[in-house]
Amino acid sequence: MTTTGRPPASCGSCPARWSGLAAAHCPTCHATFAAASWFDAHRRGGACLPPAGLLGPDGRLRLRLDDTGMWRGADPYPIREAA
Ligand SMILES: [Zn+2]
Ligand SMILES: [Zn+2]
Repeated sequence: MTTTGRPPASCGSCPARWSGLAAAHCPTCHATFAAASWFDAHRRGGACLPPAGLLGPDGRLRLRLDDTGMWRGADPYPIREAA
């Protein structure tokens, strides 16, 4: 993976670092999301929902934590069982 000329973004209030133009980091719970829509999904009534607890209408997990520490949509990515 070679991304040239774009250093990872960082929070300043926690050790999180991430890359990707669409990524969004929550300044409240310090979770990093691969897309702003997932960030929006974890905000409910002005508070943060734990990303690991976000379920879709079918009751299945909507987000998974990827290898870079970023929450991203489980679809279309295959959901890996938590070890
Ligand atoms: Zn949050
Ligand atoms: Zn942070």
